[in-house]
Amino acid sequence: MECQYLIQNAEVTHTLKLIQGDITERETDAIVNAANINLVLGSGVAGAIRRKGGKSIQEECNQIGSCEVGGAVITTGGNLNVKHVIHAIGPIYKQYPPKEAELHLSNAIKNSLEILQDNKLSSISFPAISTGVYGFPKHPAADIIISTIIRFLKTSLIQLSVEICLFSSDDYNIFNNKARMILKK
Ligand code: ADP
Repeated sequence: MECQYLIQNAEVTHTLKLIQGDITERETDAIVNAANINLVLGSGVAGAIRRKGGKSIQEECNQIGSCEVGGAVITTGGNLNVKHVIHAIGPIYKQYPPKEAELHLSNAIKNSLEILQDNKLSSISFPAISTGVYGFPKHPAADIIISTIIRFLKTSLIQLSVEICLFSSDDYNIFNNKARMILKK
């Protein structure tokens, strides 16, 4: 399942694609890891990246050390199909008042996109950061993730292809319905 939207500004037309699948199979310039502050690749998305990407990604993370909530860092993609993994730190939902958790999630997305551009890359695939072990409710997370991406694309003058890769068909439907609602406003 997949669906593509066009996001335009005065200079360029970007694409926003929603897809159901395993993010470690994507072939964008970069994929995003749902990381933790210690940059230890444990379970969920991070576990899948560790298993398929090999040891080098964790070793690079160890060199970097740590990252704050809402931040992001970049490593190479090891044995994955991608050149780079951007490790974005979403919030553990219950650790913050809702508005603060929302801001951290939004910053994690925005900082990942900034790192993408700083490294002269143009395509990226995001998982539904914070909606697994970190417990962020799916509907507000979909709203924040999609809105943050659209806001970024509206001001970016370099053409970007942004993808959100959802693991389950339920999540794909939640995100796709949200994208349709936001973009028809
Ligand atoms: P967090 O700790 O930030 O919540 P998780 O990795 O536990 O991160 O989960 C984030 C989201 O990624 C969840 O919706 C989960 O279903 C999804 N997910 C887990 N594995 C994969 C994968 N291989 N590809 C894409 N999405 C995945």
